[in-house]
Amino acid sequence: MTAKKGSATSVATSTDAIHAGERTLRPYHAVGGTIVQTATYQFKDSAELTRYQRGEDADADREEYGRYSNPTVRELEVRMAALEGTSDKGADALAFACGMAAVTTTVFALAKTGDHIVLFRDCYRRTRQFVTQMLARFGIEHTLVEPGDLANLEAAIRPNTKLVLSESPSNPYTHCVDLEELVRVTKAKGRIRVVVDATFATPINCRPLEYGIDLVIHSATKYLGGHNDVLGGIVVGAPHLVSLIRDTRGILGSVMDPHAAFLIGRGLKTLGLRVRQQNATAMAVATALEGHANVERVYYAGLPSHSSHEIATRQMSGYGGVVSFVVKGGRDAAARVVDACKIPTIASSLGGVETLVDQPSLMSYFELNDEELAAVGIHPALVRLSVGCEETDDLVADLLAAVDAA
Ligand SMILES: *Cc1c(COP(=O)(O)O)cnc(C)c1O
Repeated sequence: MTAKKGSATSVATSTDAIHAGERTLRPYHAVGGTIVQTATYQFKDSAELTRYQRGEDADADREEYGRYSNPTVRELEVRMAALEGTSDKGADALAFACGMAAVTTTVFALAKTGDHIVLFRDCYRRTRQFVTQMLARFGIEHTLVEPGDLANLEAAIRPNTKLVLSESPSNPYTHCVDLEELVRVTKAKGRIRVVVDATFATPINCRPLEYGIDLVIHSATKYLGGHNDVLGGIVVGAPHLVSLIRDTRGILGSVMDPHAAFLIGRGLKTLGLRVRQQNATAMAVATALEGHANVERVYYAGLPSHSSHEIATRQMSGYGGVVSFVVKGGRDAAARVVDACKIPTIASSLGGVETLVDQPSLMSYFELNDEELAAVGIHPALVRLSVGCEETDDLVADLLAAVDAA
């Protein structure tokens, strides 16, 4: 149900988003999803348990304990594998308590003491902290590379490099990495796994496995759930890698709760509708803001002025719903714009049906002074907008009126 490999039209379909992995017969003939709210699963007798432990009951569609698996969670995993997977290579997926649980569990599954990880400097702040601060305690080394700089990435790879971590598009400047080149450069250097956090893309806009990426990570809290009401994380990739990560998840306990899986599974059903609407509205908002006298610069990969425009156009079928812009006049002028917004809510996070706005220098990076902000590449007057599903015209008018207030 997916189009040609490696083309911008190779996208996940709404048909898969609604139906893939669906159980044909639900309890009570229900059409809606089933929440199997249980911590553990019963065995009829010791003989059944013994058959299960020996793997003799291969067709028995059953679980053992909630930290290992749950039917509601599994249904979501199967659907995500269908949305991200390629037709020529099988894919499996795992669900986690949140995006960071997916990131940390994946890295712990694939890296050990003495290994080296390369990641781009603009990756999600907590991922960067996990690698640069926490993994150092386990003797896992790292190198940070400037956003999208593949020559530098190539130079950073060492004999002990096990993992390259990337995001595309990245937060908050929507930098895109040329995925085909990323794979080519990395794989030429040895058996190195390439992991892409594609939270900002969603499988509607880009499917990294098509380009040879080993594992795709999502914070399902964002577009997949889509309603700002649940936390979740997803990892998708080749079954043998996913199997390693599943074992690690069973130890770390970073599993998704069945009720969260139900909510995210329900959100997924409208993923195509939401993301296509968000793509269109974000493009309209970005275009309108770029022409405003109080806006210094707009960052949206859909604009020809963006440094990733050409890459994004080649490997994505939509540019996503996050638009960042720098307000002329500095930190306070940006705060005035944020405060003048009527439709967007001031909140961190992104990807939901409600438009959210935040000024990173006051939100995620509030403890940094201007010099420290410059070091992490965050402009004090930067505003990040996560476009929701309100009417396009309403949002454009609201944003234009808000930047008038700068
Ligand atoms: C939000 C986010 C995460 C972390 O996800 P949580 O669900 O909040 O744990 C990781 N990566 C990206 C790109 C994100 O936007």
